[in-house]
This record gives sequence, C-alpha cells and structure tokens, in this order.
Amino acid sequence: MDFSFTKEQTMLLDSLRDMGKRENFKDLAAQVDKTRVIPRELTNKYAQMGLLGMTLSSQYGGADEDSMTAILAIEELARYSPMIAATVFESNVGAVRVIDMFGSEEQKKAVIPGVCSGEYSVSVCMTEPEAGSDLTALSTIIEDQGDHYLLNGEKRFISGGGEASHYLVYTRFADVKGYKGIGAVLVEKGMAGFTFGKQEEFMGLRGMPSCDLFFDNVEVPHDNLVIKQGEFGKLMLTFDIERCGNSAMCLGVAGGALEEAKKYALQRKAFNRPICEFQDIQFAIADMAMKLDAAKLLVYRAVGEAGKGLPSIYQASIGKCFANEMVKEVTDKAMQVFGGYGYSVEFPLERMVRDARAWSVAGGTLQMLRIAIASMIFGRKFDQRKPE
Ligand SMILES: Cc1cc2nc3c(=O)[nH]c(=O)nc-3n(C[C@H](O)[C@H](O)[C@H](O)COP(=O)(O)OP(=O)(O)OC[C@H]3O[C@@H](n4cnc5c(N)ncnc54)[C@H](O)[C@@H]3O)c2cc1C
Repeated sequence: MDFSFTKEQTMLLDSLRDMGKRENFKDLAAQVDKTRVIPRELTNKYAQMGLLGMTLSSQYGGADEDSMTAILAIEELARYSPMIAATVFESNVGAVRVIDMFGSEEQKKAVIPGVCSGEYSVSVCMTEPEAGSDLTALSTIIEDQGDHYLLNGEKRFISGGGEASHYLVYTRFADVKGYKGIGAVLVEKGMAGFTFGKQEEFMGLRGMPSCDLFFDNVEVPHDNLVIKQGEFGKLMLTFDIERCGNSAMCLGVAGGALEEAKKYALQRKAFNRPICEFQDIQFAIADMAMKLDAAKLLVYRAVGEAGKGLPSIYQASIGKCFANEMVKEVTDKAMQVFGGYGYSVEFPLERMVRDARAWSVAGGTLQMLRIAIASMIFGRKFDQRKPE
C-alpha cells in the first residue's frame, strides 16, 4: 500500500496551508462559529482555485480527480474548522456524486457546472422524524401520475436545508415495503409545495444550515428521477464516499486540536517550567498523535483503494467508526491540556470539542456502523427489526 502523496497533492496542500495563514482561517473559523454564516467570498475563492467539484466529470466542469486529493483538501481545511471545509466536502463527496455517477445527461448538465462554480449545492435527504438509523422504514412517498410524480412527506436534519439549490430525496415508490421500494429524485428549491422548517440550533457545526423539509403534493417531473425503485444499493454505495468525507473532517479537526495542544504545552508554564515537560502532558500528546495516525491510515486505505470509484463498504465503515471515536478523544485530551482556557470561548478548543461530536451521528451512528462491520465479518445479515 502506497501512502505517499503525488507532487500535485503536495502542491495543493502547500497552497491551502499558505491560504490558511494569509487569509487567517483561524480567526475566520471563530467568526463563522459566532455568526453562523460562512462568507460567500470563501466559496468563490474555492471555485476559482478549482477546489469545488474536482472529483466530478470534466465534461461538466469537474476535474476527474480521484477522491484522495479531495479528501486531503477537506482534511487540511477542517484543521481550522469543518465549516471552512464545508463547500469542498459537499461538492466533492456529497450527494452530487450520485448525480455524477448515476444521473441522466440532462441532470448532470443542469447541476454539475453550477456545483463547480459554487452557485449550486446538493443536499442528501434521507432522515425522517420516524426513520433515522432505520432508514428503510422511511415513509416519504412518491406516486406516478402519468406525466409527472407526486411527492409527499417530511425530512429531518438535512444539512444545507434552506440554502442548497437541489435536494436528492430518498423516497418510497408506491407502497412497496422495505428497501426494495426506495429510490431517489432530485427536487429543486422553489418547486411548488416544497417548504422548509426552522433552522436547527446544533451544539457545533455552527454555520451549517440544517432544517426539516416538507413535501406537500410536489409535482416532480419524470426527468428528475435519479435512482429508480429497487436500486437502493446504488444509493448506499455512493454514500460510502460521503462517509470518507465525514472521516476526513474528523482527521482535520483532530489534527487542528493536536497542533493547538502542542503549541500551548510548549509555551504555558506551571511550577516554573513549560507544561510539555510533565510526563502526563507528553503522554497525552503522544496518545493523540498515535490515534490520529491510526485513523489516517484507515481512512487513506479506504479512499486510496477507491481511486476514482467507490470505497469498499467495509473499509469506509471501519475508517469512519475509528475516526469518529478518535476525534472525540483527541479534542477532549487537547482541551485538558489547555486547563481552564480550554473551557473558555476565547480559545478554539471548546469549539473543536463541539464540532467533533457531530460526526459519530451524521452519516450513520457508531452503533449502526458496528452492526454493518460485524455483519461483514460474520458474512451474515443481522436483521434489527422486531417481527410485526
Ligand atoms: C450534524 C448532523 C448532520 C446531519 N445531516 C444529515 C443530512 O444531511 N441528511 C440526512 O438525511 N440526515 C442527516 N443527519 C441525520 C443523521 O443521519 C441521523 O441523525 C442518524 O442517522 C441517526 O438517526 P436518528 O437521529 O433518528 O437516531 P435513531 O435512529 O433514533 O437512533 C437513536 C439511537 O439509537 C441507536 N440505535 C438505533 N438502532 C439501533 C440498533 N439496531 N442497535 C443499536 N443501536 C441502535 C442509534 O445508534 C442512536 O444512538 C444529520 C445529523 C446530524 C447530527
């Protein structure tokens, strides 16, 4: 397994590091957390640098890059904050990948160039008030009316909700139970009968729009069908690349926290010596570095082997589960190194702890990932549903 970066990847990471310093992303991260607004100029700059949609097909404005380059960029930017990396995440590993891989020619032409220019973004809409981990119980329903579909239902916790231009909505076709009845359609903001709930107030990831979506007899053209009923597997396969993006966010946040803790331990004094001279602080930093490196290897393995395609479900699940737990532990330890200042909003650690907490729920909980991993190890399905 070769974990070395290409010349282009190294150059990209260097340019992102320069940009972060030049544009003071540390302050920007704190500002976004406070105001809950990601400045539009940031998205424009990323678009100019070719960071948006670099994994998408070049014939529609992407750059045909493999996922590894995008994952490295997401990780580097998330060292400041996941919000600094958000548009790079969405445009490279988000729901737009489903359109790029499985959408029609018309859908690709309509969506991908706008995503690459930063004008459009696509939200993934799976979760419902009564269907989270138990996704196959979703009850949003679509019915064929002959010349169009009629969509009815409700979605919850949709990242990008209210701001995204397009929504990839997982829905049940007619009355077919279980995963066999599930497919996905593209719904555009502004369609009649499509409305948004109030914005969520999450403990972290402040700046990321998120809300409920309501579909009340929304007329969806047949041309907006992306994944037909019975092809649920395609949706979940593509979602595994988003899970690697989730893991990259964890690598970035943990890397940022470790760097802050190291700097602080070198300059903060207690008992007339820098606290880095105390063995417990050294061990904490060493443990943080070990866990972070181990997570990197798992995530890079999943993404590296995927190339321009999709990762193995097993590798992506193991990488996400480990990275999700690692980032909670690393940010918590880093906060401890900061003593009382770690708990103060004047310092970045409390924000990093809050931001770290989201990833082990978003994109599938730790428990559901462990069930999937165990199921692949045993080579058996473990049905979680109580028989009716
Ligand atoms: C920051 C954030 C962003 C999100 N973005 C999106 C998005 O863009 N699009 C989207 O569709 N959704 C999104 N979600 C929703 C997320 O995918 C769900 O919250 C998640 O899948 C869990 O569903 P739930 O909240 O309904 O929890 P539930 O499914 O009700 O689970 C509650 C608890 O029970 C556990 N549990 C459930 N079943 C089992 C079992 N069989 N064995 C063991 N434990 C079990 C769960 O692991 C969890 O701990 C987001 C969530 C967050 C926090």
